Amino acid sequence: MCGIFGYVGKQKDAAGIILNGLKRLEYRGYDSWGIAVKQQETGNKKQETNKLIVDKHVGKIGKAEVNLPLSNIGIGHTRWATHGGVTVENAHPLLDCSGKIAVVHNGIVENFQELKEELVKNGHKFVSETDTEVIPHLIEEFTKTKEFPEAVREAFNKLSGLNAVVATSCDSSQIIAAKNGSPLVAGIGDGELFIASDAIGILAHTKKVVFIEDGQIAILGKEIKLVSLGDGSTLEPKIVELDWKFEESELGDFKHFFLKEIYEQPKVIENIAATYAVETLKFADLIDKSHGIFFVACGSASYAALAGTYLFSTISKKHVNFAIGSEFNYLDDYIDDGTLVIPISQSGESVDVIEPVLRAKRKGATIAAILNVQGSTLYREADYKILLGCGPERAVVATKSLTAMVSILILLSYTLAKKQKAGQDMLVGAAKNVRALLSDESINKIKELARQLSKTEHLFVIGRGLSYPTALEATLKLKEASYTHAEGFAGGELKHGPIALISKGTPCIVFAPNDETYEAIVSNAAEVKARGALIIGVGPKNNEVFDQFLETDDLAEATMIPQIVYSQLLSYYLALEKGVENPDMPRNLAKSVTVK
Ligand code: GLU
Repeated sequence: MCGIFGYVGKQKDAAGIILNGLKRLEYRGYDSWGIAVKQQETGNKKQETNKLIVDKHVGKIGKAEVNLPLSNIGIGHTRWATHGGVTVENAHPLLDCSGKIAVVHNGIVENFQELKEELVKNGHKFVSETDTEVIPHLIEEFTKTKEFPEAVREAFNKLSGLNAVVATSCDSSQIIAAKNGSPLVAGIGDGELFIASDAIGILAHTKKVVFIEDGQIAILGKEIKLVSLGDGSTLEPKIVELDWKFEESELGDFKHFFLKEIYEQPKVIENIAATYAVETLKFADLIDKSHGIFFVACGSASYAALAGTYLFSTISKKHVNFAIGSEFNYLDDYIDDGTLVIPISQSGESVDVIEPVLRAKRKGATIAAILNVQGSTLYREADYKILLGCGPERAVVATKSLTAMVSILILLSYTLAKKQKAGQDMLVGAAKNVRALLSDESINKIKELARQLSKTEHLFVIGRGLSYPTALEATLKLKEASYTHAEGFAGGELKHGPIALISKGTPCIVFAPNDETYEAIVSNAAEVKARGALIIGVGPKNNEVFDQFLETDDLAEATMIPQIVYSQLLSYYLALEKGVENPDMPRNLAKSVTVK
């Protein structure tokens, strides 16, 4: 969970290029950051000037500028701390004893204590509390007998855990990148090469990329060379042309990516309605042929998956199992070669999804992924895939990726039921309704509600059926974006305990679509209202029990889409009301979780 960016090439402003790359990757981790460049050799004083210059800071990059010498090679990192506090010393790049080798790292070196003890015995001096620092010292050891790329390979092979490492040395004109688990992608420009944790970092420079696979080392110098981590043998790099547009990953006129990405949703949904017929037919066929279907996902995607179980049950009459990624390993005994596993993930890199998928693959299961990032680990591991097609998502909180997932699941369940056209029409209606929610009048209403709730510390959200995962997603958004303690419940569960938490004035959002859940959820709303709660109803049908009402169109199952969009907007404006510094980067979080 960090952003790595490296540059080697014809331009002299490596530091500036790296800084801009890190700014694009900052959603991956933002507690501290740093850059190291190799000082250019001048004249014939080679010995004196051949050194690494490092600049490190605590906090977000924001509008930072760098003050580093001109150079054509360097590496940078934006951190999400796992081992060691958030300090300048612990920020990456980390150096060896000589200060000649710099390393940036994503992951956890699980055996770092043992390696550190050994290195300390051999006289190495450590200056940080990180697990990462063993890596430059290990490389230093190996450079005593080996060339730099080989030394990195040997050092990397000593590490256990899921890691990505990028290293440079002032005695080399190369950047070496190795990975096992965490993502790395190399970009190929005109006389220049890039390495980054995510293609978004590179898109400003080139669309030609090589996704580094587990067990590979990329050596970036005048050209890219790939070798095997195992035996050092040469491998052929597979060059891929990205289909994302650079402009899609930029902020434009919006204040935050969070808001920009909310506004992109009507187009995303329309695109799915218009162009996903063939892909969903193929998936439907796979689902029909399988015995045993499992959704696996984390965070917001897990609520899309949970919604999928309701959609498949009611629309397609299919039973689908669901587990969150980090729990799936404990529930996968039923998987065999007839099973279909459907992982759902924005990044395609979440370790909690990748791990169970790999286990399921080993048991012979077929993997059909729903994901956003082309070329990601999940993309490469899956036998079949549907891309979300929502473009890069840069705010840490998921918005358009979640509605894309839900839209695809709605279309898929209608396709399975041989009613694809009905699913498409429903999505067209949802896109139209979302567009209406983004009108000035509707936004002003949400802003006003956010003002009223700005002093709220605890909030409850309830729903039944499909509105239950909708409620869970709404609470996650409120928690992560606006730091409001929000709890989501199935309406029927309230009386089994949570109702004890309701007191006078506690806001309770009630998702009430016009379906079989309506009467029961309105009764649940009345129960909490009787205990003093302030009821905010969201759906197509107003009711006297609602103190406030946010209206949606009646879109059958797709009503959950405008309901979700309301909760996104409320979370965003509540974050602003509560003075959250940057709603794109909530505290303690990172977008894709690449450590266990
Ligand atoms: N484990 C390393 C640290 O805590 C790397 C964390 C990251 O991936 O950002 O510094």
